[in-house]
Amino acid sequence: MDLYTRGEQAFLRAYGRYDILLEKGEGVHLYDTEGKEYLDFYSGIGVNSLGYGYQPYVEALQKQIATLMHVSNYFYTPVSIEAAEAVKKATQLDGVFFCNSGTEATEGALKLARKYYYLKHRKADSEIISFHHSFHGRSTGSVKLTGNPHYQEAFGPLIEGVQYATLNDLESVKELINERTAAIIVEPLQGEGGLNLCHKDFMKGLRELCDQHDICLILDEVQCGMGRTGTIMTYFQYDILPDIVCLAKGIGCGVPVGAFVANKKYAKAMEPGDHGSTYGGNPLVCAAVKTVFEILEKEDLLTHVRDMSEYLLEKLDELVREFDIIEEHRGLGLMQGLVFNQNVKPIVKELLNEGVIVVTAGENVLRMLPPFIINKENIDEFIGKLKKILKK
Ligand SMILES: *Cc1c(COP(=O)(O)O)cnc(C)c1O
Repeated sequence: MDLYTRGEQAFLRAYGRYDILLEKGEGVHLYDTEGKEYLDFYSGIGVNSLGYGYQPYVEALQKQIATLMHVSNYFYTPVSIEAAEAVKKATQLDGVFFCNSGTEATEGALKLARKYYYLKHRKADSEIISFHHSFHGRSTGSVKLTGNPHYQEAFGPLIEGVQYATLNDLESVKELINERTAAIIVEPLQGEGGLNLCHKDFMKGLRELCDQHDICLILDEVQCGMGRTGTIMTYFQYDILPDIVCLAKGIGCGVPVGAFVANKKYAKAMEPGDHGSTYGGNPLVCAAVKTVFEILEKEDLLTHVRDMSEYLLEKLDELVREFDIIEEHRGLGLMQGLVFNQNVKPIVKELLNEGVIVVTAGENVLRMLPPFIINKENIDEFIGKLKKILKK
C-alpha cells in the first residue's frame, strides 16, 4: 500500500489533504518524497516565518532539547522567563500566559475577560462581541467566537453569550453593547475570513467604546502578529494597545506554542488556580520563542518583511490590472490575499503542480503567507508561475 493511502487509513478525515507527501524543508523550499521542490508561499499557515532549517533557530532548539524540555508550570526556568520578557517587550503589555495553540490563546483570553467581569459584578453572565467572518479556533468556546456558522452547526450546545457584529461597522458594535458586555474580540486583519482589514477609525472606535464601557478589547493576532504585517504587532499600525492580545503561529516558528498577554488591569484579575496548562510554555517552546525574537531583531527581519511586501504589492498590482478574473488584492505586509471572481481551488491545485504552495481563504481568495526570508527572485518565480496558469 502506498504511503498516502496508509495515511488516509490511519487518520481521522478531519482535513481534505493534498495528495503529495512533504518530507523535508530548506530555506523557503519544501521537498516531497519524490524529491520535487516547492516554493513555500504558505509557511504552514503562517507559522514558519523563518522558513526551514534556519541555523541559529535549529541550534538553539537542539541545545534546549539536550538541556531541559519540560518541568510543568509549577517551576520557572531561566529560558521561560526570558521568553516571557521578550513577549512583554514586543507587545508592550504586562503579563504573559503561555499555552500550546491559537485556540488556547483565545480561550484563555476569553476566560480572563470573564474573570475580570466576575470580580466586578460577582456574576458569571457576561457577553462577548465577536465579528462575522472571524476565526478564533475550534474548541467549543473559541469556535463560538468564530463568526462562521458552518464551523459551529454540528457541535452545539456551545458557550453562551456570544454575539456577532459587522467588521468596520461601529454602529453594529454599539447596538450589541449592554451592561453585560465583557469583551470585544477582533482580528486586526482577518486571515481565514478572507484578508479583511480593520479600518483605522474603526479600531480606534473600538478602543474608545471599550474604554467608555469598561469592556476588554481582545485582539487576536494569532495569524497577523509577530511581524507578519511589517510591525511586530499589527496594532502598532493603529496607535492603540489592546487589553489582551492572543498570539500563536509565528511566535514559535514551528513548535506548538501560543500566548495570551494582558495589560496591568486585566493581569490583576488572574489568580492562582484560575487557568493552567501542563505543557504551556515549557522550556523547549520557550527556547523557540526567545530565539525567534532574537533573530527578528538581530537580522532586522521586519525591515525585510516591509521591503519584500512592497515589492510583492507592485507585482500584485500588475496582476490585478492584467487579469479580469482578479478583482483586487488586500492585506498587509506578507499576509496578502488575491480576490478572484471565482473559486480559487483549481488555481491553488495548478500552482501546486507548478511547485508553489499557497492556500485559500474562503472560496475566492488566494492567500499568501510566505516566510519572512523570501527574496525578490522568489517573488518573481511565484508571480511568473501564477501568470502562466492564469493565461491558460
Ligand atoms: C489559526 C488561528 C487561530 C487558531 O490557532 P490554532 O493554533 O489552530 O489553534 C486563532 N485565531 C486566528 C486569527 C488564527 O489565524
